[in-house]
Amino acid sequence: MRPEVLFPLFAPIRSLSGIGPRLEKLVEKLAGPKVVDLCWHLPVGLVDRRRRPKIAEARDGEIATMEIQVGLHVPPRLKRLPYRVHVHDETGEMQIVFFNVHGDYLAKAMPEGSTRVVSGKVEFYQGQPQMTHPDHIVAPEELASLPLLEPIYPLTAGVTLKPLQKAIRAALDRVPELPEWQDGPWLKARGFGPWRSSLMAAHMPDSFEELDPDAPARARLAFDELLANQLALGLVRLRMRRLPGRVVEGDGHLRAKVTAALPFALTGAQVRALAEIDADMVSDRRMLRLLQGDVGSGKTVVALLAMLTAVEAGFQAAMMAPTEILARQHHASLVPLCEAAGVKLELLSGREKGARRAAILQALATGEIDILVGTHALFSEDVAFKALALAVVDEQHRFGVHQRLQLQSKGGTGTDILVMTATPIPRTLTLTAYGDMDVSKLTEKPAGRKPVDTRALPLERLDEIVDGLHRALARGAQVYWVCPLVEESEDLDVTAAEDRYNSLQTIFGDTVGLVHGRMKAAEKDTAMARFEAGETRILVATTVIEVGVNVPTATVMVIEHAERFGLAQLHQLRGRVGRGADKSSCLLLYQTPLGETAAARIKIMRETEDGFRIAEEDLRLRGAGELLGTRQSGLPTFRLADVERQGDLLAAAYDDARMILDRDPELESERGKALRVLLYLFERDEAIRYLRSG
Ligand code: ADP
Ligand code: MG
Repeated sequence: MRPEVLFPLFAPIRSLSGIGPRLEKLVEKLAGPKVVDLCWHLPVGLVDRRRRPKIAEARDGEIATMEIQVGLHVPPRLKRLPYRVHVHDETGEMQIVFFNVHGDYLAKAMPEGSTRVVSGKVEFYQGQPQMTHPDHIVAPEELASLPLLEPIYPLTAGVTLKPLQKAIRAALDRVPELPEWQDGPWLKARGFGPWRSSLMAAHMPDSFEELDPDAPARARLAFDELLANQLALGLVRLRMRRLPGRVVEGDGHLRAKVTAALPFALTGAQVRALAEIDADMVSDRRMLRLLQGDVGSGKTVVALLAMLTAVEAGFQAAMMAPTEILARQHHASLVPLCEAAGVKLELLSGREKGARRAAILQALATGEIDILVGTHALFSEDVAFKALALAVVDEQHRFGVHQRLQLQSKGGTGTDILVMTATPIPRTLTLTAYGDMDVSKLTEKPAGRKPVDTRALPLERLDEIVDGLHRALARGAQVYWVCPLVEESEDLDVTAAEDRYNSLQTIFGDTVGLVHGRMKAAEKDTAMARFEAGETRILVATTVIEVGVNVPTATVMVIEHAERFGLAQLHQLRGRVGRGADKSSCLLLYQTPLGETAAARIKIMRETEDGFRIAEEDLRLRGAGELLGTRQSGLPTFRLADVERQGDLLAAAYDDARMILDRDPELESERGKALRVLLYLFERDEAIRYLRSG
């Protein structure tokens, strides 16, 4: 249960004065639905109103705060013309200008003959200073209420600064004192203050320097957030560890058969990763391991060999893929190897229905099936294994932590988990998302891979590309032609792909195939199968082929509107070629004019095929939050911390979390109790459930 002291922060924003139904919706989109979300909405700039010139000293374009005497009001003759108020001080005269003045507002705000302090932007018009719509108009005795340094917040269409400032001030008024969860000496060493005053200072900076993420107030808040993240991951990890694992020890007889059937020798990296996995499986603790390897580094075969160990030991194994195509492809590629070893392999996706499905479930429950490959259909209630010892999750970035836990629960006692990701994730992000997992890396690619020749061309040169395709096809090449996602509309990108398919078909005839996300599963299979068999030679596709698809004979990748793709995605797509013996190429077709970021992405693609370097560059270009499309990736988003810039804070949070959980795994000490509040504050409630007295 959330501690009561936090209740005011988790009230809906509509409970704040000044937030009506209209503003509520907009602010909710901008910051979030709760009071605490407004607290995390930090200023990005400051309006500096400290300059206090006399009229004669005012400069064109500056923000100034000026004490003036109000003179004559001159209402407009026509509605659309401005309302002018003449003002003066001992040095000169100026005009305050208003449009669309309603009622007697101005007569009240600045009555003739009164003294007022106005603050706003000075502009010169025909040599005369004037101020249009001052931001503040106050009487001299109210001067204290005029913020001389005013925070500027990120805005969205329909929300202006003033009401947002007001709402945030109201939110800050609700902020309680909370027990200190950080280590006192550490705070001191860093020059950090208490949480509440840090939050206030972050919203009311006294200088531009204090807007810097490394300024003490902001850094403290960022550290709090990172610690909550690391602590939550640490708690999940502890719980996993606490659950007993199984000792799974194979005798190697199946592995020997499959290895003999492989047309290649394992790379050193594959051998090392397998040894790490074996050691985990044979121990009586449960395995929670991430197998990280760039596209084409050969993760699948590592997974298969690990699954064979489970089968050798008399257990079952499962492998889950994020898409139907990928699940089918894994199944198809594993069938011959499993047959060679006499291992029973089955496929389960949303498409196995009725009697067929019942038969599979039956065989699974009796233990007749050794290895089950599938989609998230593996999560269904009625799927029950006889003895699941190892669950492999492929292409992890499509799944979140929840699903990981869910699959694990299928195993009953102590199922080992191996998560595979093809997306190279920079070290800092690995820590934030997988701080709870051990990591094996495939750092070396199978021998014989040829570099992919990557070129970039403007879309206007489509004719040349078509000519090039004629030549490539004459040489026997197979081609992927990828059409982009159209602004979040699946229908539109399907249309784009269909249009391209039609236009290529008029040129290349029946050798052109099409696959996209809206096709029926069986149609997708057929399209993929025909391409794999070489019946179609050009496969027009949406990004459904982004993840994992393996057709080694394909050697040309055309990416249309490459400027619309992220770096990680381009890298994934390019990874579909360069898998066989022949030389491959990748054509990035872009729309001119090319924006700066898109140009930088394309340049990096041309420079390197190193997935880790590409991921680092991606992080630099886009920022951590956006990398991989955070939402679907299961990677955490941070409201306050910038993991790219604040790697040192992240490392400190990682160490701190480990130390805390070593000493006080149930968070029962004084500091432990305060840390529970921290977890709730950052909505890591999930993690609290893992505590005995959560
Ligand atoms: P990914 O890591 O992207 O999932 P895959 O497992 O799909 O990569 O492997 C890509 C290709 O490399 C497959 O055709 C696979 O058979 C092949 N492969 C895997 N390991 C090796 C190896 N040691 N030597 C040569 N080819 C390999
Ligand atoms: Mg793969």
